[in-house]
Amino acid sequence: FFPPEAAPPNVLHGKYELGRLLGHGTFAKVYHARHLVTGKSVAMKVVTKEKVIKVGMTDQVTREISVMNMVRHPNIVELHEVMASKSKIYFAMELVRGGELFSKVAKGRLKEDVARCYFQQLISAVDFCHSRGVYHRDLKPENLLLDEGGNLKVTDFGLSALSDHLRHDGLLHTTCGTPAYVAPEVIGKKGYDGAKADLWSCGVILFVLLAGSLPFQDDNIVAMYKKIYRGDFTCPPWFSPEARRLVTKLLDPNPNKRITVSKLVETSWFKKPLPRTLRLR
Ligand code: ADP
Ligand code: MG
Repeated sequence: FFPPEAAPPNVLHGKYELGRLLGHGTFAKVYHARHLVTGKSVAMKVVTKEKVIKVGMTDQVTREISVMNMVRHPNIVELHEVMASKSKIYFAMELVRGGELFSKVAKGRLKEDVARCYFQQLISAVDFCHSRGVYHRDLKPENLLLDEGGNLKVTDFGLSALSDHLRHDGLLHTTCGTPAYVAPEVIGKKGYDGAKADLWSCGVILFVLLAGSLPFQDDNIVAMYKKIYRGDFTCPPWFSPEARRLVTKLLDPNPNKRITVSKLVETSWFKKPLPRTLRLR
């Protein structure tokens, strides 16, 4: 350990050596970092306090920390520790080395077996969150990471909500997320069930994995929202009938008619056993 005043500039809290940039999102930059004593590699998410204050998201950062401590699961990125300096907050997290699921689909659509393997892990993580009263609210392939063994890890709880924060109507009211992945009832201002809204995003993700493109797309955001409201999308011809059926049940614009996790895990598409030798690459 370095005493803080003697530490080189790329050493954090005398404890971690910061390395290359791994990725960035709307609010944060994430770097490779190495714990100086153990030599263990971690992913260090760096959030600038000023930025967070400017957009009125200070409570969200506190929430991101408490939520990540609540959801320990094999398919959720683990938070090791949180540090802060005058201007920044640092999240030392489990390093996931295989990149974003986004980069994989950017290279082309996935075979149904491969998509199923990832989708099963996604649903396992999402269902676990919901059972703990946590709603992610920003599920998309950029926030799903892959390790070298093909395991999927959900990250970025920066927009998540907790069931403790439901209004007296039992619903969430903050419109947030990423337009192409957001459920119609989240765009509307009447409140929504966080679990049902997350499942819509899972439906968009499943479509993207199988199609290699988004179900609802338009250069004009209002036109895109209209398509989302109507559930106006078309499955490409290569979708199997079972996949088509499942995507349609997930992308039901009526949240009360949308398939729930307990029904989803019983569908033939979801349950189909993975081949013993599944090539993920
Ligand atoms: P933001 O809140 O700004 O969207 P994220 O938490 O999504 O920040 O992190 C931004 C990007 O950094 C991710 O999309 C991913 O590419 C990379 N990243 C985040 N967490 C990890 C991690 N644990 N291991 C490896 N890369 C990560
Ligand atoms: Mg993100």
